[in-house]
Amino acid sequence: MKSINKVVDQQANELELMHSYQDACANKEFRAYVEQLPIEEEILRKYTSNLEDALIEFKNCKNCKGLEHCENKVKGYCYTPEKEKNIINFSYVACKWQQKAFKENAYKKNLELFDMPKDIKEASLKEVYTDDKSRLPIIRYFKEFTDQYQKEKNPKGLYLTGSFGSGKTYLVAALLNEMAKKGIRCALVYYPEFLRSLKSSFQTDYSEKFDFIKTSPIILLDDIGAENESNWSRDEVLGPILQYRMQNHLPTFFTSNLTLEELESALSITSSGVDKVKARRIIERIKQLTISMELIGKNRRN
Ligand code: ADP
Ligand code: MG
Repeated sequence: MKSINKVVDQQANELELMHSYQDACANKEFRAYVEQLPIEEEILRKYTSNLEDALIEFKNCKNCKGLEHCENKVKGYCYTPEKEKNIINFSYVACKWQQKAFKENAYKKNLELFDMPKDIKEASLKEVYTDDKSRLPIIRYFKEFTDQYQKEKNPKGLYLTGSFGSGKTYLVAALLNEMAKKGIRCALVYYPEFLRSLKSSFQTDYSEKFDFIKTSPIILLDDIGAENESNWSRDEVLGPILQYRMQNHLPTFFTSNLTLEELESALSITSSGVDKVKARRIIERIKQLTISMELIGKNRRN
């Protein structure tokens, strides 16, 4: 008796599902939508309400002009039916705009930031101000750098000095972002903070941090000279890093508010006294690694 009841219930249930599916099909848009799905009607009719939800998102996507206009529940994704054997799975599938964004942002995985603002990954050479001419030689050098790097010649980096807020960091970041788009791993490191953090990591990941900065294929040491100098930071950190990068021809960029001469004096005076020879040695390494350029311009910070 029980099993007969079960069968009757099941039939009633199927009938109900069929009716609600047929009701939904009275709507032209729904009908057109389900007809273009590669799924048989006898499966479709079990999912009327999900299909109606999917249709709403499908319609939202149809005339959508971009991610910023997305009206779907999950931005950039479309609730979509997919047949699997005799059932339908509904899942959120990335829309064409989201896929485009994925592609355009793929280079960011090649960029390692250390205490730099996240939006520095958006810096772009196309948007570099060209209103003052002091940028032009730098941009010309960037072009040379890119060409040479691709020919595996390991070009020199830049020592970019200049006034506060003139756009030094932005400029070098824009170049490194371009290199990342070519698939090269680049690191952008705010040097004073890196030093502080290295100092407090003796018991933990000191050597990983040190190796990271030593071996990154292309690196920017941002704002060098703004740190507190000590014999340790000069002789045990900066010196060996530069030595390694020189020996391995790893392009190294610096930005600084100090000229090389000013950096030399800053490096020669530490809390333990004055050592001009050691400071000179660092400067010699920087000169080996880079071409020196200056960016003078108005302060772009607001
Ligand atoms: P610096 O490193 O010389 O002190 P920054 O590179 O930090 O200067 O630039 C100062 C400000 O101006 C930053 O907020 C930066 O994002 C902005 N900026 C600099 N150059 C550009 C540019 N070409 N396009 C857009 N913003 C820029
Ligand atoms: Mg800067």
